[in-house]
Amino acid sequence: MQFQLDEDQKNIVAAARQFATEKLAPGYQERDQSGQFSKDLCQEMGQLGLIAPEQSEEYGGSGVTYLTSGLIMEAIAAADFNMAYVQLLGSLNSQILTRYADKEIAKIWTPKICEGKVVLGVALTEPGGGSDAANLQLKAKKVDGGYELSGEKASISMSDQADIMIVFARTGEKDARAKGVSAFLVEMNSAGITTGRYDDLGQRCIGRGSIFFDQVFVPEQNRLGDENRAFSQVMEGFDFSRALIGLQCLAVAEASLKESWKYVQERVAFGKPIAENQGVVFPLAEAETQLEAAKLLCYKALWLKDNGLPHTSEAAMCKWWPPKLAFEIVHQCLLTHGHGGYGRDYPFEQRLRDVLGLQIGDGTAQIMKMIIARQKLGENQ
Ligand SMILES: Cc1cc2nc3c(=O)[nH]c(=O)nc-3n(C[C@H](O)[C@H](O)[C@H](O)COP(=O)(O)OP(=O)(O)OC[C@H]3O[C@@H](n4cnc5c(N)ncnc54)[C@H](O)[C@@H]3O)c2cc1C
Repeated sequence: MQFQLDEDQKNIVAAARQFATEKLAPGYQERDQSGQFSKDLCQEMGQLGLIAPEQSEEYGGSGVTYLTSGLIMEAIAAADFNMAYVQLLGSLNSQILTRYADKEIAKIWTPKICEGKVVLGVALTEPGGGSDAANLQLKAKKVDGGYELSGEKASISMSDQADIMIVFARTGEKDARAKGVSAFLVEMNSAGITTGRYDDLGQRCIGRGSIFFDQVFVPEQNRLGDENRAFSQVMEGFDFSRALIGLQCLAVAEASLKESWKYVQERVAFGKPIAENQGVVFPLAEAETQLEAAKLLCYKALWLKDNGLPHTSEAAMCKWWPPKLAFEIVHQCLLTHGHGGYGRDYPFEQRLRDVLGLQIGDGTAQIMKMIIARQKLGENQ
């Protein structure tokens, strides 16, 4: 077992951290207020090779390992959780494209995603439900040369800012459930698409909302994978993104802890630094312990992927525990900063709002635990 980064990893993480600290951190709170993510910064991230870096050079990536991609995710999210979403979507969706899109289509879009010129979202959830995703209703009707999409998607990140979207739609009978679902790459400026945005608690510069499809034509070439097989084919990429989500949330917790260790040595109460009270530092020490364990879990899931080994249950663990833990650690750090922590001079209140969303987005804790239980029960049959 090897717990050291190699020289290439150290260099790429250092470059990502420098960019994130200098360019992203200063605007983290401002973008929360404006509700707009920055396309310019997105392109700068792309130029530095920070978006979907695990993609092969053929498709515009740097060909780094999945683990290295996770380390870059941490570096960015520590400074700006929301700009790290661009990486998350880039990594999740570009691997779907390179694996399941028509080669010509993948060659057009994937390099643009890596360059930060295009943001690609994913639209699965519908007003009727997200956990029971196989029950989706949005219809893709076969027409001459392609499909016509009609229906509504709900709760979609970047619904009104993404350039393209992977849309899951029903091509088979309703009672075929998962076996009647296909996925399509849809350009968001297509005729018949309208969007709406929710007034959310956090992740406000990413934004989340509805997408309405009114007889939207999608060429046959834009179908991803085989007809009716999207659940068994396209969805497998979600294991990778779940490990990235874990690190995205934990990076926020780690940044908050670093700031708190500094603060407790500076803040004086009862004539001495508050760090001299075990009641102050023990919760931080506990948080450090749990943070370390959760990070190792995420690294292991990515290492398993790098080595072509099964990692579905580890990925589901990364998706339910780290977002919850990150929320609890940021909460503790906010309290450690006393009344100041509750205000906007510090980023803790925003971090709490931002990380909370990923206890629901990409599947809730209950659904992740169902995945883990299913895997473990299967192993013991
Ligand atoms: C910040 C954020 C970003 C998101 N981004 C996207 C996106 O980009 N694309 C996208 O497609 N979707 C996105 N979503 C939607 C998200 O994937 C769904 O909200 C999620 O899957 C849950 O679906 P639901 O909200 O319909 O809850 P429901 O499915 O209605 O579930 C409600 C509650 O019941 C629980 N529950 C349901 N069934 C069971 C069961 N069998 N056993 C135990 N508990 C159960 C759930 O865990 C949950 O707590 C996002 C959501 C959020 C909050």
